[in-house]
Amino acid sequence: MNDIILLKVGEIILKGLNRRRFEQKLLGNIRWRLSQLGKYRVYILQSTIYVEGDDGADMDAAFEELKKVFGIVAISRAAACEKDKDAIANLAKTYLRDEMLRAKSFKVESKRSDKSFPMTSVELSQYVGGELNEAFPEVEVDVHNPELTVYIEVRDLAAYVHASPVPGAGGMPVGSNGVAVSLLSGGIDSPVSTWMIARRGVRLIPIHFFSFPYTSQQAKEKVIELARLLTPWCGRMRMEVVPFTHIQEEIRDKCPEEYFTLIMRRFMMRIAERIALDNGAKAIVTGENLGQVASQTMEAMASTQAVLNLPVLQPLVGMDKGEIVALARKIGTFDTSILPYEDCCTVFTPKHPRTRPTVKEVEEAEAALDVEALVGEALAGLERIEICHEESL
Ligand code: ATP
Ligand code: MG
Repeated sequence: MNDIILLKVGEIILKGLNRRRFEQKLLGNIRWRLSQLGKYRVYILQSTIYVEGDDGADMDAAFEELKKVFGIVAISRAAACEKDKDAIANLAKTYLRDEMLRAKSFKVESKRSDKSFPMTSVELSQYVGGELNEAFPEVEVDVHNPELTVYIEVRDLAAYVHASPVPGAGGMPVGSNGVAVSLLSGGIDSPVSTWMIARRGVRLIPIHFFSFPYTSQQAKEKVIELARLLTPWCGRMRMEVVPFTHIQEEIRDKCPEEYFTLIMRRFMMRIAERIALDNGAKAIVTGENLGQVASQTMEAMASTQAVLNLPVLQPLVGMDKGEIVALARKIGTFDTSILPYEDCCTVFTPKHPRTRPTVKEVEEAEAALDVEALVGEALAGLERIEICHEESL
């Protein structure tokens, strides 16, 4: 009896002519992810992806890993057998024995994409339902509201039996929707915003602004760890670490204090845009959230985005903090985000930041700086860090 994983493909079904490209991207992502665990065969037939393990391959680990692949809406562990009604009924009895013993009621739902199979779906469901009922007489048949649904699929190569699928990660395969840069701090928000845009099929290049020695080596390690925690979802990434100390010191020395944060954020945007253009990225992702801090009012955002041509994607903009925290926990970044290391945003923070600036005011406030030279210097000092999913290497 072969244990197999069946994956239902999500939104890419809607993509018409692009469908094949989307499917190939998804297959590639799945193969890459699983290659870190062992040897698996991955193939697609009729919009269902099949994952089979070679001898000794860890199917539990593969199942867990596949929950993090964007583009999959449902995942089932299933067992395969030949396309014969008794083989199917026997498999259902053995493979789903524990589930049947736990349930109070059940029904069987069959699907038949192989139309040459001699029974209709309804006949097959009735037959297997009857067999299960005989083998587990304490479990009632309830076709309306069963505790357990036994799924049978008669497909091209074999018949498959499984219990309810678990939800997949949804979204679209990473890489199917272009590339963006993502500003990654050590906070709670930006790992979540990175994850949300990756889920829309975007491959991401994380950028971190680092102000050593005002922010410590540990603060940088923490951001690397956050990026690493995101790789099961986002795929392999290359992070760009931008030396930011000199820019922050120049701002402190030459600009009015109430504008420090806004000017700093304008530099972040300019540098991010240059990195984006150098890497074919088409947008800048941030974890900004309307009204959360002084630099996240509409006026403040207008003044930081005034230096840009690329769009800024702010997937958290309308969420409540509690919702963001719940997502951070779900994706596994929360515990690392709350480690108490400082971020460059907390260096030289003004006591009374401007919350409703005009673009013109901010431009005047930064007039004493040689913007081009500072941006050029930061770009010349970029450090590239390959982020890999060490745990499974
Ligand atoms: P986060 O929890 O993501 O740090 P935040 O609520 O603390 O967000 P800010 O510190 O104002 O908000 O930063 C807003 C956004 O700017 C962040 O979500 C992130 O995208 C980006 N950002 C802030 N600091 C840095 C940094 N040091 N490096 C890269 N991006 C940063
Ligand atoms: Mg922050």
